[in-house]
Amino acid sequence: MKTCLAIDQGTTGTKAYRIGADGRMELVGRRTHRQILPAPGWVEHDAEEILRHIEELIADAGPVNAVTLANQGETVVAWDARTGTPIGPAIVWQDTRTRDVVTRMKDEGLEPEVMARSGLPLDCYFSASRLRWYLDHVPQARDLHAQGWLRLGTSDAFFLDRLCGVFATDITTASRTSLMNLRTGEWDETLCRLFGVPVDCLPAIRPTVGDFGQLRASGVPVRVSVVDQQAALYGHGLQKPGDVKITFGTGAFALALAGTEACLEAGAGILPTVAWQFAGQPAIYALEGGVLTAGAAVNWVEGLGPAFSCADPALLAASSAAEKGVFFLPALQGLGCPWWEREARGSWAGLGLDTRPQDMARAVLEGIAFRSVQLVQAFVSATGQAASRVSVDGGLANNAWFTQFLANCLGMPVHVPEQVDVTAAGLGRFWRESEGLMQADTGDAGWSVVSPRPVGKEARWQGRFDHLTRQAVEWAAK
Ligand code: ADP
Repeated sequence: MKTCLAIDQGTTGTKAYRIGADGRMELVGRRTHRQILPAPGWVEHDAEEILRHIEELIADAGPVNAVTLANQGETVVAWDARTGTPIGPAIVWQDTRTRDVVTRMKDEGLEPEVMARSGLPLDCYFSASRLRWYLDHVPQARDLHAQGWLRLGTSDAFFLDRLCGVFATDITTASRTSLMNLRTGEWDETLCRLFGVPVDCLPAIRPTVGDFGQLRASGVPVRVSVVDQQAALYGHGLQKPGDVKITFGTGAFALALAGTEACLEAGAGILPTVAWQFAGQPAIYALEGGVLTAGAAVNWVEGLGPAFSCADPALLAASSAAEKGVFFLPALQGLGCPWWEREARGSWAGLGLDTRPQDMARAVLEGIAFRSVQLVQAFVSATGQAASRVSVDGGLANNAWFTQFLANCLGMPVHVPEQVDVTAAGLGRFWRESEGLMQADTGDAGWSVVSPRPVGKEARWQGRFDHLTRQAVEWAAK
């Protein structure tokens, strides 16, 4: 039977699965890499360390017919074209070191132009300002550029260059840089000039499913390269415009399927993006909205001490924090969609002398759910179309209490895959679809449905939470 290797290179770690022609998945292994935090707001990875993990997992997998690769999205690397050696840290999508640069561009009134071309607002979340950072702060980058040996790219381009000798990215990853023209699917000269990123240092943009060369070591072809969120979208099997998936990992990212139009005028802080493209076919678009801090807020509150555990059975048996008037806004790294206020910060509200760590931990989980409802509401107001199906995955989807609270707040069923690794499943589906193997569909993820059991106070709680969010936006402006 034909088999592919699905490598999910995420923010906190790298997972690999062998996936059969029938969709059955078998974990090969997982590795975690270091999160390097050299200064407030700075988040770095060591690209060589992650590459080593990928190579180990490829070796551990044994013989396969193809390799597929999901990436972190907006994380960037700069390297020397001759040696493939990085000339600085990988700068992670969570990193805000270029905030001032982006603010200056906003003050210069450049945002409408950037949005009209890339579909994205001016925010240091996207790759462009971080790609420029190397040229401004790493002397070697300037020297290499002068000699024509500088390569700048998202992390996928670095891995593909080193693994296959192919300097390429895919259209979904390119769409997250702020440098790609969303209509044409090509690097936009004007955007590259505005951000100061030399277009000749950037990788070629290829369709998501197609040809990314062959592994140098074994000759196995790399057939898929894609942003992890888009892989998850495909893994969820979403079909209809209006279908929504939310992946609750380090951040929470919602994507709604949109069709073959770029939807550049979505508004409401919703971002049009590319969902996927098969070689020789038009690109399919999606709308995106993110809660910047989700699982990372869980890690943060659990780091305060054992009493703050979010998986503690006593926590789940207790009544909700909102019921006790305790709320938490998980804006620990600012607010994403639909607020886009990077200066906003997290806050607690409604604390009393009787508030216990448990209530505070639970308020964090509830806050992530309330933020997710804001996202879904933003999609609905952007498309004028009610959400038809909501499905979730990622680390927090393992928390049954959380998915129930989310269903209650949304007032609609939440679909949870029994096979939680939807990102890897999506990589497998891309490959199977391109190989004409989808009819042999026996091993795909089953779904459980969490029906809403609202207590009738959810709308009021959401109102209080929305108020807290608006306060944080105002506070940031003071
Ligand atoms: P990523 O792909 O961004 O690395 P994952 O999808 O692996 O993230 O999710 C990891 C996050 O999910 C962590 O921040 C962790 O705190 C959170 N998480 C995992 N399991 C649970 C759980 N049972 N309850 C609450 N949060 C959880």
